[in-house]
Amino acid sequence: MSRENHEKSLPRILILDTGGTISQKPGNGGALEPCSTDYIEMVPRLHEIADISLTRLERMDSTDMTTPLRGIIAEKIAESYEDHDGFVVLHGTDTMADTAAALNYMLSGLGKPVVLTGAQLPIFAPGPDGMNNLYYSVKVAGMDLGEVVICFGDRILRGCRSMKENVHGFNAFGSSRIPPLGELGVSVRLLDHRIPRHRGKLRVFTKFDPRVIYLPVTSGSTVNFLEQLSQWQELQGLVLGGFGTGNIPTFLMGSLKKILKRHIPVVVVTTCLRGDTILDQYHVGKAAKDAGVTEGIDLSPIAAVQKLMYAIGVTRSQSPDLPPAEALKRIYSLMRIPVGRDISLVE
Ligand code: ASP
Repeated sequence: MSRENHEKSLPRILILDTGGTISQKPGNGGALEPCSTDYIEMVPRLHEIADISLTRLERMDSTDMTTPLRGIIAEKIAESYEDHDGFVVLHGTDTMADTAAALNYMLSGLGKPVVLTGAQLPIFAPGPDGMNNLYYSVKVAGMDLGEVVICFGDRILRGCRSMKENVHGFNAFGSSRIPPLGELGVSVRLLDHRIPRHRGKLRVFTKFDPRVIYLPVTSGSTVNFLEQLSQWQELQGLVLGGFGTGNIPTFLMGSLKKILKRHIPVVVVTTCLRGDTILDQYHVGKAAKDAGVTEGIDLSPIAAVQKLMYAIGVTRSQSPDLPPAEALKRIYSLMRIPVGRDISLVE
């Protein structure tokens, strides 16, 4: 086969670089900092598995990732969508799951792989995991997947179900509520519950409302953080982590009602890693439901935050004149519609 024909048959993969540990080096004080060294060429034989193009969007620690930059990632994917078979986003691990969830809501109708990866160790350090992660991510980006995933260690995980669960090990991510979508080993094995590659019309929506916060309740504490929040004009949405099935301490209820009186959407999620909210099960959850919160069902706190930013953004941009009570209903109904299999199906 001629070189030209060989290249034509390779999947066309766009790598979008945002930084993370994979591209960091120790600075003067010894702490890791972003550096500008190119490293894609350090990964052996990458060009044998894909026809690669690379765009460097940023070199940042993902601690500083922002909603507008997530929007830029989504726009880049949308504008390059027809010319590529798949996408790899190089990203720090700390907020990789958040970006994966955001992209799930930003890119509706996605039918190609968007693969997020990074590393626990800089690629310039001895024994780096980034070599493997990048190699396998490029490979996975050419495969039969049609959703946003995290490819890290020996797993492929649904992006909107993932969280960083290990600071130390090379399998840094887990998705406690659903099994991995694939396994990376001697070969790459994709499992049946993935969303396969499909043709569809990609639509990009990036006008998320970032004025959303996640706070879990704290057992034994007397600090009424909801009272402070109820007076905080910037707040436009709250994801509240409740105990177990979504239970909220009684002493917070008065302040929660003040927030809801302002028609601020409040989504109660469980702080547990498995299972759903069932607010009706205990009076301490039912009181919150009767006050006007909505259930996060089995959304992780990370996905709930991104989905709430999306739902508020969609509602405000599509129906700016809705009365506040109607807007709240619209936001709550968007929260319950599954997007990219982010929640288990509800009745
Ligand atoms: N702090 C780093 C980041 O998120 C951690 C990593 O990439 O592993 O950018």
